[in-house]
Amino acid sequence: MKRNFDVIIVGGGPAGLSAAIYAGRGNRKVAVIDTALVGGQPNYYSDIVNYPGYISGSSSNLVNNMAMQAEKFGAELFQYTSMNRVVLKRYLKEVTTDEDTFVAPVIIIATGAHPKFLDVPEEEKFRFKGVSYCAVCDGGFYKGKNVAVIGGGNSALEEAMYLSHIASKVYLIHRRDEFRADKTIQKQLMYASNIETIMNTTVQHIIGEEKVTGLMLSNGYSIGVDGVFTYIGSVPNSELFEDALNVDKNGFIIVNNEQQTSVEGVYAAGDVTNSNLKQVIAAVADGAKAATFGLKYLDY
Ligand code: NAP
Repeated sequence: MKRNFDVIIVGGGPAGLSAAIYAGRGNRKVAVIDTALVGGQPNYYSDIVNYPGYISGSSSNLVNNMAMQAEKFGAELFQYTSMNRVVLKRYLKEVTTDEDTFVAPVIIIATGAHPKFLDVPEEEKFRFKGVSYCAVCDGGFYKGKNVAVIGGGNSALEEAMYLSHIASKVYLIHRRDEFRADKTIQKQLMYASNIETIMNTTVQHIIGEEKVTGLMLSNGYSIGVDGVFTYIGSVPNSELFEDALNVDKNGFIIVNNEQQTSVEGVYAAGDVTNSNLKQVIAAVADGAKAATFGLKYLDY
């Protein structure tokens, strides 16, 4: 069945739901299509404590409220919907799912990203129970404790610095003998007395019963830590769009300051873009901008 909308939003995480709230509030016919339950990555976090105005609480509750708000403004949510084909051309934009073809003059891509996993046997067991992918989200739980950060890029070094102000000790573990991160952050690292770098080393096992208590390393040593922060890169969920849109070398969709992609009428928001703050607050701001400029585009 062919379904016509003013705005199609692909991905129902914070960026997509925020776009749906803004586009719905603009009194447009809006569809949000998600391959799973709407809510995105916050469905899998425990608590969110750094979202302004939301002093603390479950992050899934926050995104549930966003979904209800989007529906209140008339957005139609299509959940658990497989997307088979996406056409992103100036004069034809459509998304084909198992049952329907959705057509609209404006498409907002908000499919997010997923962290690259360490791929050690115990990682899944301890995921979000000592193994974290977000220091800004979870760092506060490790006040005065020992943590490890894995990776050698900008994210790993920046987050190790961030954690050094909270944890009593931060082990920064990198697989090579030199960091990939910018020299500026490498210099800052030298002044952080509680960061110990362990080079040419990978994690072989995460140790613990109920909680993480340590790491077994490839250099033959074990270290005691309460938390592990993995920053070995993230993978944008952009495969369906890579042929049609300009993406950077890691596959993140390149947008301008109005969230517009390389194709007119196609916007992108949140973690799937080449933005440099991968946070709920940044995603919702991106979504609001994408919808606002998308609606202006509809008026031309
Ligand atoms: P990244 O630059 O790709 O770095 C990933 C790091 O993880 C690399 O050091 C890599 O080691 C290591 N790694 C990859 N796979 C691994 C594995 N299986 N086991 C152990 N280590 C592994 O990722 P990122 O730091 O998330 O940054 C992504 C992009 O965002 C980059 O372009 C970065 O410059 C940018 N960024 C910019 C800022 C900023 O400008 N302030 C902040 C954050 C990120 P190797 O070095 O050996 O490959």
